[in-house]
Amino acid sequence: MSPKPPYPPFADAPVEELLSAAEIERRVAELGHEITHHHREAGTDLMLLGVLKGSLIFLADLARHIPLPLTLDFIGIASYGDETKSSGVVQITSDISRPIEGKHVVVIEDIIDTGLTAHYLMNNLKTRKPASVKLCSLLHKPDRAEREVSIDYLGFTIPNEFVVGYGLDMAQRYRNLPYIGRVTDPSGV
Ligand code: 5GP
Repeated sequence: MSPKPPYPPFADAPVEELLSAAEIERRVAELGHEITHHHREAGTDLMLLGVLKGSLIFLADLARHIPLPLTLDFIGIASYGDETKSSGVVQITSDISRPIEGKHVVVIEDIIDTGLTAHYLMNNLKTRKPASVKLCSLLHKPDRAEREVSIDYLGFTIPNEFVVGYGLDMAQRYRNLPYIGRVTDPSGV
């Protein structure tokens, strides 16, 4: 794969494109149609629950492909570990603003890596008595799975590499990159 030509604000970014903006756009539209199809009967109880901060851009695009009445909410999760790997010790840093009891909740994640965060979160949400709770993730790295997590709506399966862009960060940067890329030289980030 040839390196991505420099994107102006990231002229020196050591990032090589893995998924183009056009590929992401197409797949996000398909996921939106699938979610719409499965939630036509949800009435006014559909809620998209974004996991901060990585899902923000994905959620914003996805929501516009779901032409149903819905609400948006967010949950902040801290998953302790080093820069590139979570430890499995998970803490809710900012909880959902309203109860989810009786709601049809679709959790929107950026990436499922070891599965530790999603496993914890899905179990936690199920104790709050939603009518249903599904998991939608843009990316999945199956090679790293440590917990079995059932992903109801999946964008792309990717190799075991650290990726940034389209909401995903490295040291809080690169979230606004319009494509998803692998970091080729972490020392240059
Ligand atoms: P898990 O608990 O599944 O190992 O980790 C999930 C979280 O780790 C994601 O929500 C994300 O914040 C972070 N993460 C895992 N892999 C990557 C990656 O390749 N790039 C970035 N930017 N974050 C990742």
